Amino acid sequence: MLTSIAGRSVIVTGASKGIGKGIARVFANQGAKVLVVSRTLDEAQAVAEEIGNGASGFSADIASWEQTQAMAEAAVERNGGLDILCANAGIYPQTNIEDMDPEEWDQVMDTNLKGTFLSVKACLPHLKKSDQGRVILTSSITGPETGFPGWSHYGASKSGQLGFMRTACIELAKHAITMNAVLPGNIYTEGLDDLGDDYLATMAASIPLKKIGAVEDIGNAALFLASKEANYITGQTIIVDGGQILPESLEALE
Ligand code: NAP
Repeated sequence: MLTSIAGRSVIVTGASKGIGKGIARVFANQGAKVLVVSRTLDEAQAVAEEIGNGASGFSADIASWEQTQAMAEAAVERNGGLDILCANAGIYPQTNIEDMDPEEWDQVMDTNLKGTFLSVKACLPHLKKSDQGRVILTSSITGPETGFPGWSHYGASKSGQLGFMRTACIELAKHAITMNAVLPGNIYTEGLDDLGDDYLATMAASIPLKKIGAVEDIGNAALFLASKEANYITGQTIIVDGGQILPESLEALE
C-alpha cells in the first residue's frame, strides 16, 4: 500500500484523451487535485468534470513558453501549489523520411521534446516549494527501444526526452525533486478504434502478454513514481509494454 497522494496538486498535459486521460483518472481516484491540460479547453473541461475530485480543465499549447507558464500558475492558484507534473502530451504523425516536410519534423520536436523542456521549466519554480516534487514523462518504446517506419522524428523526440531527463534529474535533485519516465508499448486509446478488430488482434498477437495495454497501466506506473515510496528513484525508465520489446523472433511468441 502506497502512502496516499490525496490533496496533492498534479498537472497532466495531454489529458483530454488517451493516456493522459488515464493518468488523470488514476490520480483523481486517489484524491489528487488534477489540472487537465490540452489545447482544446472544452475537451479538457469535459474530462475534468468526468473524473471529478476537484479536477479542472485548462487550455495550453505545451510548445509555447507563455502558455506553459500560465498552466503552471493556474495549478498553483487553483490547487494551492504544485507537487507533480505528468508531462504526457505528444503527437505522432506517421510519415516516411522521403515524404516528410522539414516543417513536420519541427512540429514533432516542438511538441514532444521542446514541449517537455518548457513544461518542466515552467513548473520548476513551483515544484521547488513542494516537499514531494515529482516529474513523470511519458516517453515511448519507439525511439529508446524500438523503431517503426514513419516515426523517425517521433522516435528521435522520445529518445531525446530521456537524454533531457538524465541531465535535468541531476539539476532537480538539489531541490529533492525526482524525474522519471514511463515508456508505453501499444496502449488502447480512442485513436486505435479506427484501425479495426483485425489490426488490433494482430497487434495483440505480437505481445507476449497477448493484449494491448490500458491507459490505466500507464497511470498506475506514473502513480508509483509519484509516490512517497519512490523518493529514491530518479532519472530512470519503466517500460510498460506487456513484454513487447522482448521477443527475438516470431518463433519466440509461438
Ligand atoms: P492522444 O490520444 O492523441 O492524445 C494526445 C493528447 O495530447 C490530447 O489530449 C491532445 O489534446 C494533447 N496535445 C497534443 N498536442 C498538444 C500540445 N501541443 N499542447 C498541449 N496538449 C497537446 O495521444 P496518446 O496516444 O494518449 O499519447 C499520449 C502520450 O503517450 C504521447 O506522448 C505519446 O507519445 C505517448 N505514447 C503513446 C502510445 C500509445 O500507444 N497510445 C505509446 C507510446 C507512447 P489537444 O489536441 O486538444 O491539444
